[in-house]
Amino acid sequence: MPELIAIDGSRFNDDEYIESRTETVPVPDRGSLRTALAYLYKDDGPVNLPRDRLLVAEPHLEAAERLVIRWLYTRTNGNLRSSYGVAALRAARASRYLCEVCKFADVRVLNLDHVNGRVVGTPFACLCANCHTIKSRASDWTGEKPGRDSTGELPNEPLQPTEPA
Ligand SMILES: [Zn+2]
Repeated sequence: MPELIAIDGSRFNDDEYIESRTETVPVPDRGSLRTALAYLYKDDGPVNLPRDRLLVAEPHLEAAERLVIRWLYTRTNGNLRSSYGVAALRAARASRYLCEVCKFADVRVLNLDHVNGRVVGTPFACLCANCHTIKSRASDWTGEKPGRDSTGELPNEPLQPTEPA
């Protein structure tokens, strides 16, 4: 097994932790790092991250934080904003960057799944790649009409019942 790249769950909503991190970096970078860490770790933190702040904070982040913040930034400020946005960020934070189903912690495999397909106002679930694939294929054996998953791809078509010979 490769080493996990994961986030320590005890950091959430811990202002002292955020301050202790910001004190270790050069003074001009502190405001941006504080914003970035609040964006990652505070349930009531900022719901978007200005690009200039991201770029200043990034060198001071751990590998797992860099992965998560790029993943989220694309969805709150970048080109996936219209189909994800604030609700996706809140769902990711609420998951503590773990799969909501199996609690797998490697942030490289996390997906933000549109729970009810790509419809306006749908809630999001934070799922690992395995649980996400299992969910998107759930209709393969029920014969129900599949919805689009968060990758925008349609799951496999349900198999047509075969006529008895
Ligand atoms: Zn999972």
